[in-house]
Amino acid sequence: MKNIKDYDLEELKKELSSIGEKPFRAEQIFKWLYEAKVKEFDEMTNLSVELRNKLKENYTMCNFNILKKQESSDGTKKYLFDVLDGNAIETVLMQYHHGKTICVSSQIGCKMGCKFCASTGIKFIRNLTSGEIVEQVLAVEQDIGDRISNIVFMGIGEPLDNYNNVINAIRIINNPKGLNIGARHISVSTSGIVPKIYDLANENIQCTLSISLHATNNEKRSSMMPVNDAYPIEELLQACKDYIKTTNRRISFEYALAKDNNDNLDDAKQLVKLLKGMLCHVNLIPINKIENGAYTKSTNENIIKFRDYLNEHGIVATIRRELGSDIDAACGQLRRKNLKE
Ligand code: SF4
Repeated sequence: MKNIKDYDLEELKKELSSIGEKPFRAEQIFKWLYEAKVKEFDEMTNLSVELRNKLKENYTMCNFNILKKQESSDGTKKYLFDVLDGNAIETVLMQYHHGKTICVSSQIGCKMGCKFCASTGIKFIRNLTSGEIVEQVLAVEQDIGDRISNIVFMGIGEPLDNYNNVINAIRIINNPKGLNIGARHISVSTSGIVPKIYDLANENIQCTLSISLHATNNEKRSSMMPVNDAYPIEELLQACKDYIKTTNRRISFEYALAKDNNDNLDDAKQLVKLLKGMLCHVNLIPINKIENGAYTKSTNENIIKFRDYLNEHGIVATIRRELGSDIDAACGQLRRKNLKE
């Protein structure tokens, strides 16, 4: 059965017309789904019983069940959701002073095989639909009884490898009649699928693009991220420059520091050379050690030296606060553990 949350407003109007209903019903349904956040078609009381029955016969509402929830002492919550086909995905809620942020998954498993990622051990199963991405936000909002203010596509999966569904989900999340979260509060993180960066630049969505860079030369980056073999650093950075030119938006570069791998001052120097003059920000991430992972976290001293070097040489850099470090906060860890049980 089709998931009613897979449709953005314009598509839902067309869909309703195709089953003989007036398009304005789409706005009523959107209001019930994303403002009132109802869980059943029967709660949509300004629709006729006949229409509600028709909706029930043709669509599901894809309400996720929480399979597992872990809560950290810093307020971070990690959810494992049952996506109703026997698979499970995870979503993380982080509490910052500027609001509640959720990290959503875009795929079940991931094809990219980044060596530092806990999801690497989880084989790719399928893309999430737009509705399944949106449902992560709704299910967390329902659990905490509060609104989410920021969304980052940094959970399991490569968002640009599920391009159409992710863009469609962003349109539903961003629509004032949908979840009404401003595009500037939505961040899409990619391992660097270059052609899709060009596509995203032309979508006219004011979201933030975040690039997982993690290394400053192709040899090292390829050893950490196989995607670099297809799209090496030069092509990736050219796409980033074009993205900035087209959108006038600042790009965020993610750089996970791994001890004795990419965390010395030579790496910092190379990074300055690569990013000099770009409208960008560098987010330094103390890498999370994963079970059987090849990398360990840098020392605090190295992380601070690295940040200071970048800042002193004209590249704005900050160190990401480690949230949820007492639960399994690296992407894929909760799901991976749960699968073993
Ligand atoms: S870091 Fe992201 S893109 Fe890389 S394997 Fe993990 S989930 Fe996939």
